[in-house]
Amino acid sequence: MNFLSDRINNLSTSQTLAMAAKARELKAQGIDIISLSLGEPDFNTPDFIKEAAKKAIDENYSTYTPVDGYVELKEAICKKFKRDNGLDYKPGNIVVSTGAKQSLYNIAQVMLNDGDEVILPAPYWVSYFEIIKLSGGIPVEVPTSVESDFKITPEQLEAAITPKTKMMWFSSPCNPSGSVYNKEELTALAKVLEKYPNVFIVSDEIYEHINFSGTFCSIATIPGMFDRTITVNGVAKAFAMTGWRIGYIGAPEAIAKACTKIQGQVTSGANSIAQRATIAAVEADPSVLNTMVSAFKNRRDLVVGLMKEIPGVKLNVPEGAFYVFPDISSFFGKTLRGTTINNAEDFSMYLLAEANVATVTGDAFGNPNCLRLSYAASEEQLTEAITRIKEALA
Ligand code: PMP
Ligand code: GLU
Repeated sequence: MNFLSDRINNLSTSQTLAMAAKARELKAQGIDIISLSLGEPDFNTPDFIKEAAKKAIDENYSTYTPVDGYVELKEAICKKFKRDNGLDYKPGNIVVSTGAKQSLYNIAQVMLNDGDEVILPAPYWVSYFEIIKLSGGIPVEVPTSVESDFKITPEQLEAAITPKTKMMWFSSPCNPSGSVYNKEELTALAKVLEKYPNVFIVSDEIYEHINFSGTFCSIATIPGMFDRTITVNGVAKAFAMTGWRIGYIGAPEAIAKACTKIQGQVTSGANSIAQRATIAAVEADPSVLNTMVSAFKNRRDLVVGLMKEIPGVKLNVPEGAFYVFPDISSFFGKTLRGTTINNAEDFSMYLLAEANVATVTGDAFGNPNCLRLSYAASEEQLTEAITRIKEALA
């Protein structure tokens, strides 16, 4: 008897979380697994943020919070948007949620009708696809490759637009490719979108600060885009706060109100202590992140250097986030130590079994030729992991 809904039966499990769970399970069995599967900083939350949380507990921030977030937090987020992004949001444009994941889910729920198409430049973050499907939308993938630095062109965007297109969702810096769209590239995409005024944009900027390119551009700053963009951000990645679960959006007021409405029926306002701690995080000058960001840059250089030494692996140089997304399709059809590698999933499983390194297959992100490795791990672990991978592929 199948008593579960079609909705849940049609939903895929998050492959990032599934691989992380598998790695944890193998580790618990005593196997020396290096997990490069989960996108999660390996740093501690900065002390000034922890202090703000402790103070909030002592000051009895223990009751239900406003559904869209504390006013002080929303004001601090507006200042952050102005300071870092040049965006003029007002508190009425802001909704604070239980992680950027909930922000994204809210947007899909309040904007999509059955059959609405959502353009996803691929590779895209794993959960976009399922969140859109769960909300009745149809993900329309636009493929890219390592040769184009995993970025779409204006021509590709235009070719993907149909009368049913409701939105485009993308992240920059991108999870999983690490690619960063610069102002010129975003302006060129915006030029196409100008012709289609009913298409909205979800700009996921959660990796904004983990960016080695020296520039960052929010698409909402490009003329004509502000009123049709939902800017998504959060504190999980930049401030090493993945478990605190705070994300937020800046959006046209009607969309913000709708997100508040759904959140009010589903989860209520986000955690009180985490919100108070987030005020400290977003008020801080981004220079507090310099040490962490330069550690990520060193690791990026290390990992890219080591991966390039592996014959058959093709790699772009990611400019942000903390992932590399090598194209490993040259191994498809080969047999290594008795295992035939037919696709990226086989490749990932082979690395888990033979190198004890956990990665995530590119299929999860809409690119079946690639593999994602998170370099949010120590330099020793990264060197060891890639040495093991190299040996397993030799
Ligand atoms: N967007 C992207 C691109 C991500 O990598 C993540 C990481 N989980 C999220 C959104 C969700 O972030 P949060 O942990 O705040 O829900
Ligand atoms: N965003 C991280 C990742 O892509 C965390 C896992 C998740 O939320 O799915 O690995």
